[in-house]
Amino acid sequence: MFSRILIANRGEIAVRIIRACKEMGIQTVAVFSQADSEALHVSLADESLCIGPAQAAKSYLNKEAVLSAALLSHAQAIHPGYGFLSEDPAFSALCEEKGLRFIGPSAASIRAMGDKDEARRTMQAAGVPVIPGSSLLSDADEALAWAKKIGYPILLKARSGGGGRGIRKIESDEELLRAFPLASAEAQSAFGDGALYLEKYLFPVKHIEMQLIADGQGNVVCLGERECSMQIKNQKVLEESPSLKVGVGIRKKMEEVCQRAANAVKYEGLGTIEFLLDQNGGFYFMEMNTRLQVEHPVTEFVTGLDLVKWQIRVAAGQPLDFTQSDVRLSGHAIECRVNALPGEKGAGRVELLHIPGGPAVRFDTALYQGYALSPFYDSMIGKLVVHAQTREEALRKMHAALCELVIEGLEHNAEFQIALLNEPEFLSGEYTTDFLQRRGK
Ligand code: ADP
Ligand code: ADP
Ligand code: MG
Repeated sequence: MFSRILIANRGEIAVRIIRACKEMGIQTVAVFSQADSEALHVSLADESLCIGPAQAAKSYLNKEAVLSAALLSHAQAIHPGYGFLSEDPAFSALCEEKGLRFIGPSAASIRAMGDKDEARRTMQAAGVPVIPGSSLLSDADEALAWAKKIGYPILLKARSGGGGRGIRKIESDEELLRAFPLASAEAQSAFGDGALYLEKYLFPVKHIEMQLIADGQGNVVCLGERECSMQIKNQKVLEESPSLKVGVGIRKKMEEVCQRAANAVKYEGLGTIEFLLDQNGGFYFMEMNTRLQVEHPVTEFVTGLDLVKWQIRVAAGQPLDFTQSDVRLSGHAIECRVNALPGEKGAGRVELLHIPGGPAVRFDTALYQGYALSPFYDSMIGKLVVHAQTREEALRKMHAALCELVIEGLEHNAEFQIALLNEPEFLSGEYTTDFLQRRGK
C-alpha cells in the first residue's frame, strides 16, 4: 500500500479523498492555488504545496507543477479526483513516466473513452448498443447529410466535451448550418479540440449510469445504477439509486453490457458508464467517465462500500475481495447538489454554517464558517446525501435535511431542491432528462 498520496484537486472531493487516506493510514499532500491558501483541503492534509495562481489553467491544471509537487513531497501516487486532470491521458502517462502511480485507469483506457467518437466505435465493435449517430464530421455539409439520414432533432457534440458543455440541440438544416462553425470554434476554445460529431436526440429518456470497479486481475464488478435524469442544461442536479425504472431484468442486462465495455478497453479502476434508457427498456451507451464521480456517495450508501478506499487499493495492485454475487443493493439513496448561485455581492463569505446530521445523512463539503468562496472555481459547494430503507423514507429524510441546512452569507439552491422534492413527476419516478427544461430551467 502507498504511504503517501498527493491529491491533485480542491474542494469537497479533495477533502473526501484526504479523509479516506487518513483512515487507511496514508499520509496526504495537498496542492493549492494562491486563491486557496485558506481552503479546508490545505489544512486537513499532512503537507501542502502552492502550485500557482488562482486560474485553474495555471495551477490545478498545470501538469508540470503538480508532478513537481509530488516528487518534492515524496508522494508515491496521485489521486486526481474529478474534473481537472482526472481524464487527461497525457497526465496519466506522465505520472507513470516519473514513477508515480496515477490513481485511475491507464492512459490508453482514458484515451479510448475520453475521445467520445472513438469510444462510440469501440463500444459498437464490442456489441454495446450506442445512440444512432455519425462519425467525426469534417464540415457542415457532412453534418447535413448525417442529419438527413438520422432525422431531427439531433445533438451536435464536441468529441472532447464534458461537464454538460459542448452539446447543442439542433432542429433544422438552417440551424445546423449556422451552428456548426460556432460549435466547432467554441469546442476549440473550451476543450482545445474543435472536432464534432452528431447523435440522434433521444426523447423522452432517463439518464441511467452504472458504477463499476475493475481490479486488473480479471474482476469487473458492477455496483448498481444511479439515475441522474434531473438536469439543468445537461448538468446533473439530483441523483438517486436505485432507479424506479430499473428492475432486476434491466440491471442484469446493463451489467452484462458494462462487463463487455470494460473488457473491450482492458479497464482498471473505478469507472462509470452512462446510458440513456427509453420507455421500452432499451438503453444506449452515451459515454464512460474514467474517474471517481461527483455522485459516488449514493452508490456508497446502497452498497456499503467505500469507493475511494477501493479505488486506492486497486491502484496499489490489490485484488477486489468481493465478486458480483456478493454485491447487495440495500435501501434507497438520494443526493442533492448544493450550488452557490451568482450573488449580488460576488462570491460571498460563509457567515453561519449548520450541517444537518442524524443516521445516514451525509454532507460532503469543504465549507466552514468564515470561509470566503472563490469565484475562480466550480459553483458546487456541497452534496447532501441520505439513505433509508425505502424511497419514501429517503425523500422525507432529504426534505428534513435540506430544511435544516443553514449556509448564511451566500445564495444557494437548497430552496429549489426542496421544491423539486414535491414535484409529482419526480415523486412518481416518471421524470425524464427534459423535466427541468420543460419548467424553463
Ligand atoms: P459527474 O457525473 O461526476 O458529475 P460531470 O460530467 O458532471 O460528471 O463532471 C464532473 C466534474 O468534471 C465537473 O466539475 C465538470 O465541470 C468537470 N468536467 C468533466 N469533463 C470535463 C471537461 N471535458 N472539461 C472540463 N470540465 C469537465
Ligand atoms: P458530458 O460529457 O458533458 O457529461 P454526455 O454525453 O454525458 O455529456 O451528455 C450529458 C447529458 O446530455 C446527458 O445526461 C443527457 O441528459 C443529454 N444527452 C446526451 N446525449 C443525448 C442524446 N443523444 N439524446 C438525448 N439527450 C442526450
Ligand atoms: Mg456525461
